[in-house]
Amino acid sequence: MNWEPWTGCYKVSEGCKNCYFYGPYAKRYGQNTIKKTDKFDWPVRKNSKGEYSIKGNKILPTCFATDFFLPEADEWRKEIWGMIKERKDIEFLILTKRIDRFPISLPSDWGEGYDNVNIGCTIENQELADYRLPLFLSYPLKHRFIACSPLLESIDLTPYLSGIEHITVAGETGREARECDYEWVLDIRKQCVEASITFWYKSTGSLFRHNGTVQRINPYKQTSLAKDPNINILNGKKLF
Ligand code: SF4
Repeated sequence: MNWEPWTGCYKVSEGCKNCYFYGPYAKRYGQNTIKKTDKFDWPVRKNSKGEYSIKGNKILPTCFATDFFLPEADEWRKEIWGMIKERKDIEFLILTKRIDRFPISLPSDWGEGYDNVNIGCTIENQELADYRLPLFLSYPLKHRFIACSPLLESIDLTPYLSGIEHITVAGETGREARECDYEWVLDIRKQCVEASITFWYKSTGSLFRHNGTVQRINPYKQTSLAKDPNINILNGKKLF
C-alpha cells in the first residue's frame, strides 16, 4: 500500500531516461501532467466512526510513483507536511530524485526534522552522488537512506555514509534498460559493511551482468534473483 497524493512526473536526471513517466508513452498518455489524486488527504481521512481510514503503526511508502519535491507540488506539499505531522503513528518513507528542492515549502516547525519522516535520496551514478549527497547530508533530517536506483555504474559512496541508515540497490527495468553489473552491487554492499549500514539488493533489473555475461531477466524474476544470493544485510529492519 503506497500513498500517491499526486500523479505524474518528468525527467530530472540520467536515471529517468526509461522511466514510465518520461518518454513517448508518457507524453502520449499524459503522465507528464502533475495532478492531485483522489488520495491526496488519505492519511487524515476518517470513517463514519471518526477513526482514521489508514491504521497506524505502519510504514507508508509515499510518492514512489511520482516525486515528492516536484515544483508543481510546492503549494500542495505544505498541506502534506501538516498531514504527516498529524499522523505521528505512521512512518512516511519518501523517495526523491529532487533532494535539492527539500528546503522549499518546509514547515516552520520542522526544526531538526519530524521523527516519522524517512527520506531516500535516489542516485544513479557518481556525478549525481557527488551533487546530491552533500546536500542531503546538510539538511535537517532524522532518518536518511540512499536508493541507488537505477544503478548505472560503479559508485563510491564512502565520503557520504556518515548519517545514512540504509542503502537500497536496484538495476533498471524495462525493454530499453541499461545493464547493471553485479560487481557494482557487491562493491556498494562492501561499503555498507565497512560503514555498518544495512543493505538491500532489491532487483537485478532487466539487463544483469554477472561474471562477464549479460542476461535479460524476466520482470517477474528480477526481485527473486536479487534475493537468491542472500547478500542482504537487514539486521531485523522492516522494509517497505
Ligand atoms: S524523478 Fe522518478 S518518477 Fe520522475 S521521471 Fe524521474 S524516475 Fe520517473
